[in-house]
Amino acid sequence: MHTLAFTKIDALNLVYLLAAVLFIFGLKMLSKVPTAKRGNLVSSLGMLLATVATFFFLSGGEVISLIWVAIALVIGSIAGFLMATKVQMTGMPQMVALLNGFGGLASLLVACGEYSLDFIRPSLSDSNLRLIDTISWDSALAIGLTVFVGGLTFTGSLIAYGKLQGTKWAPDKPVQFVGGKALISLLIIAGLGLSGLMIAEPTWIWIPIIITVLSLVLGVLLVIGIGGADMPVVIALMNSYSGIAAAMAGFVLSNAVLIITGSLVGASGIILTSIMCKAMNRSLMNVLFGGVGGVVTGGKQITGEARAFTAEDAAIIFDAAQQVVIVPGYGMAVAQAQHAVKEFAEELQKRGIRVMYAIHPVAGRMPGHMNVLLAEAGVPYEQLLDLDQINPEFDQTDVALVIGANDVVNPAARHDEGSPIYGMPILDVDKSRQVFVIKRSMNPGFAGIQNELFFNDNTGMIFGDAKKVVTELTNELAET
Ligand code: NDP
Repeated sequence: MHTLAFTKIDALNLVYLLAAVLFIFGLKMLSKVPTAKRGNLVSSLGMLLATVATFFFLSGGEVISLIWVAIALVIGSIAGFLMATKVQMTGMPQMVALLNGFGGLASLLVACGEYSLDFIRPSLSDSNLRLIDTISWDSALAIGLTVFVGGLTFTGSLIAYGKLQGTKWAPDKPVQFVGGKALISLLIIAGLGLSGLMIAEPTWIWIPIIITVLSLVLGVLLVIGIGGADMPVVIALMNSYSGIAAAMAGFVLSNAVLIITGSLVGASGIILTSIMCKAMNRSLMNVLFGGVGGVVTGGKQITGEARAFTAEDAAIIFDAAQQVVIVPGYGMAVAQAQHAVKEFAEELQKRGIRVMYAIHPVAGRMPGHMNVLLAEAGVPYEQLLDLDQINPEFDQTDVALVIGANDVVNPAARHDEGSPIYGMPILDVDKSRQVFVIKRSMNPGFAGIQNELFFNDNTGMIFGDAKKVVTELTNELAET
């Protein structure tokens, strides 16, 4: 009679399978605001299971030296903890950009490590470096592609970080030059071609070295040509690339769970990229090939006077309203005004006024920025409406209150072909009976252009820090 032997590897694969199921359920939950927190926990549990199982089942042999893993784990955890606790909400996109980049770099290093371990020095006990000439074609290809995608993700993400951080070495403006696109195409073809060549000549050490160099250059070229205002799309794309690199690294290590996680990140990243492209009216192909946001000069100059209001005057108009739409933007995040905003909304609701929040997909500095802040303040999810849901409501809105938002409510996007944001879908706040805009000055927003909304007859500017002004509005309203 045959007995089925349940090996260590079988047990490991079983845990990996469970982890993969948790990732998929977690990802599904992340797609809806009310279940997003739970989705995060479920996915994290999957990752914990997969990590513990890997150490548990693979330690003790040559495969993993636990001391080195422990050292790396401690250094990485401390660095991650410090970064995550110190970063301001407004600096989160930069942090995401860095993490994507490190993900790409990690995959690149895994592939290089595996190449040197398996193909240059075949045995750990063999101290003489030597090349071997037997290697499976799929491993060779996976190594080439991991290095290629990992390298461009690393430098591309660093440039995205620099642009968002406003550093000198990564200018906000798109840097484009004659022949740039041709060079990008050439590097892509060369990278893929050389990865293919690794199948035929896996022991030619210079092939992975050249792929590394050209992928690092390619990452810079892909992102440097894109304007700062389009960085949200780039971050989503880099996130996808980091997933693809991880999946490739999974093939290098023959690790099923890495292939699955990498593929999930790669696929969800590209879906997010295409949603963001739609939100900013960009073409996905242009983003993929580094050609978004060409140099645009200015748009229409606006002459006229903006009308300033005090919180006291504005409160009287709010008091008479039946429907109010609150439009949060980057300035609300800077001022950390979300709790004050919720209190103001409650004061309105006490008077029977219908309150909704209009959430533009690229308001703030990262996808979901406004949802995260307002959810943290306890704003009910059902009051958060996205672009398609809220735009038909502005016609029937008495007051639209724009809090630290600028580009996402600029009507020039609808009609001014010379404007850098022309074609970007915007929140049609100007269609409301009355608009109030809270900001500190007449300075432009992220895209660096004037906003004609501020000069409209039905717009009133309330100048000041968002948190301070909203608190004043609440107090004034409470007294009316
Ligand atoms: P904008 O950057 O267009 O405008 C923000 C406004 O907030 C500014 O005009 C500023 O005016 C005001 N502000 C800043 N601090 C305060 C404060 N303390 N109190 C009150 N107001 C303040 O933001 P939007 O959200 O409208 O648009 C987002 C822009 O960012 C888009 O161009 C988008 O493409 C880009 N972007 C989006 C990302 C994303 O993923 N969401 C990522 C990267 C870029 P003032 O200085 O006068 O106060």
